[in-house]
Amino acid sequence: MMEPLNIELTENQQMIAETVRSFASKHIQPHIMEWDESQEFPIEVFKKLGELGLMGVLVPEQYGGAGLGYLEYVTAIVELSKVDGSIGLSMAAHNSLCTGHILQFGNEEQKKKWLPKLATAEWIGAWGLTEPNTGSDAGNMRTVGVQEGDYYIINGAKNFITHGKSGNVAVVMVRTGEKGDSHGMTAFVIEKGTPGFSSGRKENKLGMRASETTELIFTDCKVHKDNILGKVGDGFVQALKVLDGGRISIAALGLGIAEGAFQAALKYSKERQQFDQPISNFQGISFKLADMATEIEAAKLLIYRSADMKNKGMNVNKESAMAKYYSSEVAVRVANEAVQIFGGYGYIKDFPVEKFYRDAKLCTIGEGTSEIQKLVIARAILK
Ligand SMILES: Cc1cc2nc3c(=O)[nH]c(=O)nc-3n(C[C@H](O)[C@H](O)[C@H](O)COP(=O)(O)OP(=O)(O)OC[C@H]3O[C@@H](n4cnc5c(N)ncnc54)[C@H](O)[C@@H]3O)c2cc1C
Repeated sequence: MMEPLNIELTENQQMIAETVRSFASKHIQPHIMEWDESQEFPIEVFKKLGELGLMGVLVPEQYGGAGLGYLEYVTAIVELSKVDGSIGLSMAAHNSLCTGHILQFGNEEQKKKWLPKLATAEWIGAWGLTEPNTGSDAGNMRTVGVQEGDYYIINGAKNFITHGKSGNVAVVMVRTGEKGDSHGMTAFVIEKGTPGFSSGRKENKLGMRASETTELIFTDCKVHKDNILGKVGDGFVQALKVLDGGRISIAALGLGIAEGAFQAALKYSKERQQFDQPISNFQGISFKLADMATEIEAAKLLIYRSADMKNKGMNVNKESAMAKYYSSEVAVRVANEAVQIFGGYGYIKDFPVEKFYRDAKLCTIGEGTSEIQKLVIARAILK
């Protein structure tokens, strides 16, 4: 008999999903609106996630991580983001960006030095590519590092950096060569407390408000060449590779938000009565639910495919861009329709969908906007 393509969770992934679900209902759900309103970054939640192995999901056990694959990683982000996208975003940024960059490009000594601290959440990680004047055009960065003996003197600023203030360590992309040269940038690991390294303004955001977003400032910051990841000049190319994997996690973040908003809307549509019947009886509402469910399923397929390819060590440049682009746009559409299904109650903070609606929008912007994903996809298919 023919078997359909299996995208069901394995037993291990189901166990992870259940563990994260129960963690989220106990430690996250009761606080989401309090953190959202105060813009508090609940660092203790990440310490607890570290105890569960979720702050070093992809890090091999020899460096203190969980040693799991991308499908387990996606599963954990989806479950967290169904409850609170901010927690999903911070967990993804810590795992994929800072930790992921050191894991992919660090030498043995660097891995031993930083990964065990990051994988257990003893330390929180940040990753700095974006600058005030260069976001999508990150290769044009202005933060510069000038070599002086065994050190580099770094000057400039990065903005919109997740965990820019609470992070204990940051991987920062710095110009060390000519402008316009894609091999003119270098990745440095810079620890908090390094003279000349400070954090600046914390942003007041539309959504993802429990995920901290701040500036990083470098004023004659002196960093030893031993803190360079890989070779001088490889930083930008490394960053693009890190983003290929990171985009799978933002796609999972979007999927979790979409699923959370959909479940809330589905339940409400069966409970809310108008014209003496549940509103789900109206075709106008049930067709919305049908569209939402279909798009969620399609996003899931793209994400699972790119995660599976990543596990197999394949190039996921196009596939992760497709998953990220589609899933984040689905998150925005589904959250929008969820608010519509809730009617006026969708617009007030007593119900969960207004937060999904605000949080979802980040997914179409962070780690490359939807337009930049289309650029990546178009380049790949026109090659
Ligand atoms: C909450 C949050 C967390 C973040 N965390 C991090 C982090 O941890 N580390 C980090 O380095 N960055 C981080 N970022 C930055 C994020 O990656 C950038 O905001 C994003 O890449 C877009 O850059 P920009 O904001 O400068 O927009 P711009 O690049 O100025 O884009 C403005 C508009 O122009 C469009 N555009 C630009 N170029 C093109 C083009 N060639 N073709 C078509 N359209 C184009 C864009 O799609 C967008 O619609 C974060 C951002 C946010 C909001």
